[in-house]
Amino acid sequence: MTVLSPAKVFADRIGRIEVSATMAVAAEAAKLRAQGANLVDFGAGEPHFPTPRHIKDAAIAAIDANFTRYTVVPGIPDVRRAIVERHATDFGSDYTIDEAIFTTGEKHALFNAVQILVDHGDEVILPVPYWVSFKDIIQYAGGKVVFLETSEAESFRITADAIEKAITPRTKAIILNSPSNPAGSVVSAEDLERIVHLAHDRGIFLLLDECYVYLNYEGKPVSAGSFTWAKEHMVVLGSLSKTYAMTGWRAGFALAPKAIIANLSKLQSQQTSNATSIVQKAAIAALSGSQECVCEFRAEFIELRDYMLAKLLQIPGVTCTKPEGAFYVYPNISAFLGKGGIKSATELATRLLHEAHVVTVPGEAFGTAEHIRISYPVTKQNIDEGVRRMAEFLTALA
Ligand code: GLU
Repeated sequence: MTVLSPAKVFADRIGRIEVSATMAVAAEAAKLRAQGANLVDFGAGEPHFPTPRHIKDAAIAAIDANFTRYTVVPGIPDVRRAIVERHATDFGSDYTIDEAIFTTGEKHALFNAVQILVDHGDEVILPVPYWVSFKDIIQYAGGKVVFLETSEAESFRITADAIEKAITPRTKAIILNSPSNPAGSVVSAEDLERIVHLAHDRGIFLLLDECYVYLNYEGKPVSAGSFTWAKEHMVVLGSLSKTYAMTGWRAGFALAPKAIIANLSKLQSQQTSNATSIVQKAAIAALSGSQECVCEFRAEFIELRDYMLAKLLQIPGVTCTKPEGAFYVYPNISAFLGKGGIKSATELATRLLHEAHVVTVPGEAFGTAEHIRISYPVTKQNIDEGVRRMAEFLTALA
């Protein structure tokens, strides 16, 4: 019998990616919890609120009405309408129903958008620090990631000047995530407009990850989708996960020109088919119903950001930029590297997990070596306890 070596069993493409660091951390935390560990969880980013009542009721009503069969692949007309109307109302975009697709979470929309646009060798500009999955999703498609460094001294801000310098004749797409995960940096309105011009004039696609678009703490939320003249080269990627506390439902979408949506739909037809029927009904309730919950969540996240930041900065040696959005803080922990045998942020996060029972995600997963990410949608008591444990652990290293 011939035994195939692993290299022969698996396709090259699966070797180009790693397990999502946020998902790996969540799995490790679940394992420790099952063993009885009392963890403070600052790991995977998700709101700590329950999904609002009216959204849950819409899903329950859908089940009771037996709305449980296949739907058309890109989503029923009502959910596509709800997506475009919400975006038009909030940001002034002008998409039509056939320029929208409902997906099984935003990650799904992003993955498929990269699959249909990026060919082998195409360059994709990715500002650092980046959300964990961008790099791997580009590499899975065979694309070349062009990392765009930002400066911590300037709060990891992404500028049009920096993007312009990174563009080459091979640039196929630019990924923009504003407010960003993990650093909470926000692209200024002026830079955003210049970036849209840069991309549009050169025929480069802008992949706009708007996961945290409503969690912009400094000003009014903005979307590049409002630059309707540049629609041809934009894919707006949206999520209901953070906006409506629906992480487990897997509800996301893409807004893009008809031809892009048609290709996303074609790929999805061979992959997941429609996103869950009852989730589509819940999404309609979320997008078309009262938006009061969005304002309430936002106000509480701002309060938690300030609370977390103030506590964290009391730990000697820890420095941290002030996030302008999203719900993470990204402290610099370089003062502790080389102490207590800890050589990297990954080692620090691992020891924090196992010795202090605090879940964080190491900076290496986001492209930087001297940080850890802390997700702060938790109770203030959890922040107190988690930061107390961190302070005790880090102080003992010094
Ligand atoms: N976006 C969240 C995070 O970064 C959820 C987990 C994920 O899909 O990576 O923690």
